[in-house]
Amino acid sequence: MRDGVVRIYSCGPTVYRYVHVGNLRTFMLPDLLCRSLEYLGYQTELVMNITDVGHLTDDMFDRGEDKMLVSARMENKSPQEIAAHYTASFMDDAAKLNIRRAAHYPQATQYIPQMISLIGKLIALGHAYDVGGTVYYDIASFPPYGKLSRNTTDKLIAGSRGEVDPRKRHPGDFTLWKAAGEHRLQVWPSPWGPGFPGWHIECSAMSMALLGDRFDIHTGGADNVFPHHEAEIAQSEGVTGHRVVSCWMHGGLLMLRGTRMAKSAGNFLRVLELEEQGFDPLAFRYLALQAKYRTKLNFSIEGLAGADRALRQLRARVAAWSNDTHALERGETDAAGYEDRFRAAIADDLDIPAAMALIAELIHSDVATGAKASLLSSWDHVLGLDLDRAAAEVLLPDGASVLLDAREKARAAKDFATSDRLRDELASLGVAVTDTAEGQRWKTTTKRSP
Ligand code: AMP
Ligand code: ZN
Repeated sequence: MRDGVVRIYSCGPTVYRYVHVGNLRTFMLPDLLCRSLEYLGYQTELVMNITDVGHLTDDMFDRGEDKMLVSARMENKSPQEIAAHYTASFMDDAAKLNIRRAAHYPQATQYIPQMISLIGKLIALGHAYDVGGTVYYDIASFPPYGKLSRNTTDKLIAGSRGEVDPRKRHPGDFTLWKAAGEHRLQVWPSPWGPGFPGWHIECSAMSMALLGDRFDIHTGGADNVFPHHEAEIAQSEGVTGHRVVSCWMHGGLLMLRGTRMAKSAGNFLRVLELEEQGFDPLAFRYLALQAKYRTKLNFSIEGLAGADRALRQLRARVAAWSNDTHALERGETDAAGYEDRFRAAIADDLDIPAAMALIAELIHSDVATGAKASLLSSWDHVLGLDLDRAAAEVLLPDGASVLLDAREKARAAKDFATSDRLRDELASLGVAVTDTAEGQRWKTTTKRSP
């Protein structure tokens, strides 16, 4: 870290299709990281790249067609038009999930000279070789290759199915520069002839161009560990001769009906589809916050519905508590204890689920309601759930939230006489309470001036 600034690079979208909520779960990771670091007093600088060339349909085995060109052909548009359209929609979808904007969004096609320069250095240093205009990285020249993903070169040979270019020295060698061949679009001149870059070299070039050859954190999805990040390490360290990234963080995959949510497999949901079903997009954010970033998360509509209800309830509480002037005042020390624990949770490898559990604990604690509201509003700088949103929408009469809390406790203790009495008291204040399987629901029956 230099000058109190934590520098972060995150692999961004390949802009050939709409992003799905699985992609967005991965893009939430750097957002949560920056929000948490800033909450803890650091500054951050986040770079998220836009891949608009070089990502092949079979990236595990370094084969297939460029995804951008497949979409360009299918939609009868230029690769630039495809990139512009899906980049704009990615920005919109990310904003709906309160994913804050990165400081830089470099596009791969704007960094071709930097990529060519890195490839030239790798050849000069004996890490890469040119065969007929295609340049491969020689993995045998970089002994730590496989360390991040725990892949041995033997496993790499065993895993290399089907046809392997016979000109490769090792079946696991990966492409740095691909000869244009049949390609007529997205082709650049290079010392090895016309062609286009491999996907992996893009991230080495853009990360080091914008953040320098030593930076703090690199994030991506779990599926990026191999081959993408393994290759990035081999390239960046092969050129510089030293460690470039201090810490790697990988987000767990979002699963749908037992398999990975994937653009290519067609089993995915967009934010728009969740909205069409009546969900607040931030309900997805709430759902994602309940799982540790590195674990897999099963997505289901039932789970999302639960998150949507919980989020609305939480906002309503914040609204009620921010207006509750008759709350019992308790010492500030209780609130300070909660604040310390919140900070400890986010500082502990971004343990947001622990922070969410703390919210539940706080809600049911006897910390003064005003203090609860201000803690929750402050934590929302990290959580990004718009917890203050309902304050403008739901105005409970003074004292009602205390009664609602007391009634919830009475119901939990099966003290139905008290709970009925409290329901009547609430009714007289203009708050109608109904009991549902998920707990009590309320609505105001008289309009109240703010
Ligand atoms: P892509 O646009 O395919 O390059 O993917 C963009 C990012 O989304 C990558 O960092 C992937 O790791 C991530 N990603 C893809 N599928 C999922 C998923 N099902 N769950 C979480 N992240 C994913
Ligand atoms: Zn990348």
